[in-house]
Amino acid sequence: MKDRHEITTPETIEREVLSEPKLRPTSLHEFIGQNKVKEALKVSIEAALRRDEPLDHLLIHGPPGLGKTTLASLLAKEMGVGFRATSGPILEKPADLVGPLSNQEEGDILFIDEIHRLRPVMEEYLYPAMEDFRVEIRLAEGPKAQTMTMDVERFALVGATTRFGLLTSPMRSRFGIIQRVNFYPPEELEEIIIRSSMIMNVECAPQGAEILAKRSRGTPRIANRLLRRVRDYALVRADGTITKKVAEEALRMLEVDEYGLDEMDDRVLRTIIEKFDGGPVGAQTLAVAISEDLSTLTDVYEPFLIQEGFLMRTPRGRVATSRAYVKCGFDPPKRAGNQQEKEQLDLVD
Ligand code: ADP
Repeated sequence: MKDRHEITTPETIEREVLSEPKLRPTSLHEFIGQNKVKEALKVSIEAALRRDEPLDHLLIHGPPGLGKTTLASLLAKEMGVGFRATSGPILEKPADLVGPLSNQEEGDILFIDEIHRLRPVMEEYLYPAMEDFRVEIRLAEGPKAQTMTMDVERFALVGATTRFGLLTSPMRSRFGIIQRVNFYPPEELEEIIIRSSMIMNVECAPQGAEILAKRSRGTPRIANRLLRRVRDYALVRADGTITKKVAEEALRMLEVDEYGLDEMDDRVLRTIIEKFDGGPVGAQTLAVAISEDLSTLTDVYEPFLIQEGFLMRTPRGRVATSRAYVKCGFDPPKRAGNQQEKEQLDLVD
């Protein structure tokens, strides 16, 4: 059961990381979609190169699996500088940052994933590094230990987050460029699938790619994952080619429905409808009811369900839409407050 649910989860799954680098685009030119973001980045790169200065600190936000890490590494490539990656939760104490910051060369990129999960003490430590390229170093342990200020090479910090709203405002204000990545339309996912299938040496018919693209939750990481699973199915149950029929059969077996929703999305919607009368229900309560943690619910499942019109976030909690009722096989309720709630959508995170 768990395995099935993992397929359409946009988060990274450890064992997959080893096989993913091959599929990662190796230049901005190869990076499909997100044209607005790419254009803005190209201008920043060009300007930094002309001024012979490091890139401005950059924040990329948006749901998991949409290419934030890839974009950051491509920036380093285009700038011709070094790239070092770390993440918010693994940086526990200032000493963890001294190494990365002091070993950098002029213009290098330091990438911090899940930057909203940095501890406050780490944020404080980063501010002077970001602004004045200075860090404090403790010369010994203990409360009375002396500290020394050290200059570091000018670098560019690239932060990525799935939760823009959780970033503190002092942190936010230190980024010169802020870009949002969005879910990909099916045509772009189709291109990504065709490109990946060529790298993986799999025969994939355009109609097969079209089916996979429509069910990838707007997310390249899921598109690649579905492609791998469908490739296996094509090999074992057909002649190895991913045709429309093979793709449909494989996805049926994997229980990925025509909207790209999986068993967990289904559980979210059914729980709201069956246990909470369609909502509103608070996110915390909903997370407990589906036995999932709150951040997985809000960062991984909700954004796509909201974008596709299955779920609404209202000031009073989550509400299942008529579309969700129909998808789950129920008659939609007649709700007077529906429109009003829709209008208030933008007021809440
Ligand atoms: P994030 O950091 O946003 O979670 P990643 O940068 O790790 O996402 O991207 C996940 C995977 O999806 C990458 O390994 C890459 O193979 C693929 N990918 C992401 N964006 C694109 C794109 N625009 N074109 C092609 N492949 C992409």
